[in-house]
Amino acid sequence: MAKNPSPSDASNTAVRFLLRKAGSIHSDGKMYDTTRSWGKNAWEDIVSNTFSGKCAYCGKVGQALEVEHLLMTNRTQVGIHHPGNTVPTCKPCNKRQRKPGSQTEYDSWDEHLEKICESRGEMNHYETRRERIHFHMNESQYKLPLNNEMAQEAVRYITDDLYKEISHNCKRAVERYEDLLRRFVDD
Ligand SMILES: [Zn+2]
Repeated sequence: MAKNPSPSDASNTAVRFLLRKAGSIHSDGKMYDTTRSWGKNAWEDIVSNTFSGKCAYCGKVGQALEVEHLLMTNRTQVGIHHPGNTVPTCKPCNKRQRKPGSQTEYDSWDEHLEKICESRGEMNHYETRRERIHFHMNESQYKLPLNNEMAQEAVRYITDDLYKEISHNCKRAVERYEDLLRRFVDD
């Protein structure tokens, strides 16, 4: 059974829209699509040359590699959909843990990487893997724009505002609908 929709579903969709749109603004208005055109070339270059066809977190080869956003495309991590924010990972590694006691906050990519290395007894690889990802994100030709604390705080502000407005408008629309219904029933 589908779950009862909540205003936060609409808000989260709006936030994802904004973060995807923001990515295309940094690419001459063209969407980053890893399956076609320039996006496919960039993605293949990142997978083969930067990460040697391996999972960026656990280093496994020969897996079906998925697109992982280092900064998640949500309102707490405000990661935009941009080549510099994407790395290849295997399926199990493409699942981030929630922070204990929080509904909305997840581990950062480097916390996630550390947990993976630790659980596999590969802490000796942690620094190398972290450096490779850090280089890709901050120094490579694909480096992520606006990747500093101050800019991210500003993006988070815009995102939060969007989130609250959409939730507010959704609640108001539901109330108006219920109000309308009452009037029709009374007649
Ligand atoms: Zn992996």
